[in-house]
Amino acid sequence: MDNPPNPYRLGRSVVPSAYRIFITPDLDAATFAGRVEIDIDVRDATSRVVVNSLDLELGAASITAAGTGYRSVDTEFDATYETATFVFERTLPAGPAVLEVAFTGVLNDLLVGFYRSTFVDADGVTHTIATTQFENSDARRAFPCWDEPSFKATYQVNLTVPSDLAAYSNSPVVSDTDLGNGQRTISFATTMVMSTYLVAFIVGAFEETDERVVDGVPIRIVYPVGKGHLTDVALDASAFALHFFNEYFDIPYPGEKLDMVAIPDFAFGAMENLGCVTYRESALLVDPATASLAEIERTTTVIAHEIAHMWFGDLVTMAWWEGIWLNEAFATFMEVLCTDAYRPQWKMWVAFGVDRDAALQVDGLHTTRPIEFEVISPDDMRGMFDVLTYEKGGSVLRMLEQYLGAEVYRDGIRHYLRRHSYANTVTTDLWDALEEVSGHPVREMMNTWILQGGHPLVTIEDGTLRQEPFSYAPARAESAIGSTWLVPVHTRVLGSSVTTKHLLGTEPLAVDGGAVVVNAGGVGTFRSRYAPDALASIAPRVDELDELERATLVADSWAMLFAGRTGWDDFLAIARGLGDRDEPTPWGTVATAFDFAHRALRDDQRGRLVESLREVFAPQFDRLGWDARPADNALTPQMRSIVIGTLGTIGADSSIHDEAVARFDADEMDGDLARAILRIAAGLNRPGTYETFLDRFHHAQTPQDEQRYQRGLADFNDVALALDAAQRCFSEFRNQDAPIVLGSQMRNALAGPSVWEYVTSRWDEALGHFPPSMHSTLTLGVPMFITDPALAERVTTFHTTHPLHAEQRTVDQQLERMHVGLAFTTSLRSQF
Ligand SMILES: [Zn+2]
Repeated sequence: MDNPPNPYRLGRSVVPSAYRIFITPDLDAATFAGRVEIDIDVRDATSRVVVNSLDLELGAASITAAGTGYRSVDTEFDATYETATFVFERTLPAGPAVLEVAFTGVLNDLLVGFYRSTFVDADGVTHTIATTQFENSDARRAFPCWDEPSFKATYQVNLTVPSDLAAYSNSPVVSDTDLGNGQRTISFATTMVMSTYLVAFIVGAFEETDERVVDGVPIRIVYPVGKGHLTDVALDASAFALHFFNEYFDIPYPGEKLDMVAIPDFAFGAMENLGCVTYRESALLVDPATASLAEIERTTTVIAHEIAHMWFGDLVTMAWWEGIWLNEAFATFMEVLCTDAYRPQWKMWVAFGVDRDAALQVDGLHTTRPIEFEVISPDDMRGMFDVLTYEKGGSVLRMLEQYLGAEVYRDGIRHYLRRHSYANTVTTDLWDALEEVSGHPVREMMNTWILQGGHPLVTIEDGTLRQEPFSYAPARAESAIGSTWLVPVHTRVLGSSVTTKHLLGTEPLAVDGGAVVVNAGGVGTFRSRYAPDALASIAPRVDELDELERATLVADSWAMLFAGRTGWDDFLAIARGLGDRDEPTPWGTVATAFDFAHRALRDDQRGRLVESLREVFAPQFDRLGWDARPADNALTPQMRSIVIGTLGTIGADSSIHDEAVARFDADEMDGDLARAILRIAAGLNRPGTYETFLDRFHHAQTPQDEQRYQRGLADFNDVALALDAAQRCFSEFRNQDAPIVLGSQMRNALAGPSVWEYVTSRWDEALGHFPPSMHSTLTLGVPMFITDPALAERVTTFHTTHPLHAEQRTVDQQLERMHVGLAFTTSLRSQF
């Protein structure tokens, strides 16, 4: 790979092998000063050394090579490629050398590079933190470096900080020296060989839990002072996951210690820095007494995801950013596998059906994309952080795992990790490893899933399976949806537990007759359709499906309805067949379908819809009631929340209103019901409720409570209140949250369009203000504008004339889904 043609990539004439980094942050001034020594190998004699550097003031570079000192006479900066070139008068000889550069920088507020975060403690004291977020290409904002994943090196970090503050990095502390001037220097052990984007250093008013040692590795939860009572869930989940992955990968954890650090301002969910994983607070710190199961699940799965990355991502790393999807898809797959082993009663693979469906909802649009695509600039890769990478990618890997067999798949993963430890890979390296172990044509099969967008619709008719591309909108010339796939289809005959595996290609395939379940086990990443003859044998026996099969059937039926390929009554027939089961996954889909239908219909048509909603949901409420019962299983509270939330909002059930309001006023809500109660309370527009939300948000005792009341501001059916909340997103709320609140506000049936007008009237300001990785989040609610063609036209015009740089594809998908919704609205109105 010498002299790659991509101008965003550095040449390989000089290659780093070890960094020694010295940083002194000034938290009050929001600046930092530093120095880096880099062991380099000059492969070709040169007088120019090119490194990545962005927003840093650099001193002259000194190089020591073969006992001779060299000093740069000029530094050329390139803003496009984010490089600094040190120019020397004399040619540096080939061979080992040491490069040394001093630098200064600013602790920014953009949540990237070395940045500033603040929090107020229980005594009202404001603290400032300095912390890092380097993925994908922001280490260059903290120190000059070869900032590409394929330039692996070791790192030895030294932080000089005020004596009363704590400091953390990837490795254990090896020395802590009091400088006698109120400062101390903390030095960390040299890391393993790894990529720049995995380096981390953090300084601030933190505390940590006692160590819990798992397989010889100490684990700690690190948190802003005063939040130690919120760490038990995370510590238990981390301990389980670390041991689980030690066993699964059959390679010891590659770091020396494992700190999980909660950061008050954080753009993503978490970041897999080796040995020093950072999290947004709500993803790590949780109070099990007041949190919902979904919130506890989220902490558990995010932790499992990040720990899986310690091997898959940190130990073995993609060579360039087009491989990031595999990194994330694999960690997504592993988070479910690990959590399913940790808490089988949560039925994580069924719950993952919801995530997969969210991905297929995007992937069924012509504006979808292949999972893997060419990445030229690091910015291009920002467009990869979406549901197609995480959820579709993860579900495609699950489909592959189930097709090959869990053990064969695991053995292939072990083979791959062992072969490529401390090195870099491309996607096909994994397929090759799996192919060697399994003997199946993995590469050929996976290429059909990775290199083209979309997914198939598998139809069973007259005992024959066939595939076609699935799309919500009619076929069109310009589409990212592919044509055919090599589809691993699992079938079984109802009443039998024997599953048959097929590989469906372009030719139709005959299967055993009778009542055949097409996506047996619910593990396939495709939609299935039962022709009338097949449906007639399945529909009356929905209760004989397993839970994920049932959830998949409901999700596929809803997709077919939204695509205009079946009618409302067909969907309702399936929903009615769900029976008395505490299954939040399929019931959640039914609730969503009713919500869409309720928005879509005219006022005079809604009566019939609400009538059938009550007919479907009221028996479930009669069975479950408001409070926990001895017969409840782990998922009953989620089921109860869906039922109450649906009856209390679109169901407009007045007795549910009364009870919800009473519980809200008394501030007595268990975690699982809180979301439903808040939705109902907000929707009723009683005087003072909005102020109560704000007050409880400001005084929240846990990150989950804070998030609940803040996100709940999106549910008020009042334009003036909605605009007040939108304004607070620009002035008061944290940047890590505000785009999410605005996106949710746009989903509000009444106030959504006004919020959209408000945000787009401040568009340039918004783009400068919010983290770049969250820009497309601002338009999350656009797909809900499904009843007003004139509004849809304006929205389309605005967003096509104001494109985002890296994330415009996500916006285009939201626009297309809005148009699919308009067609759905027309179709549904004709059916009522
Ligand atoms: Zn990840």
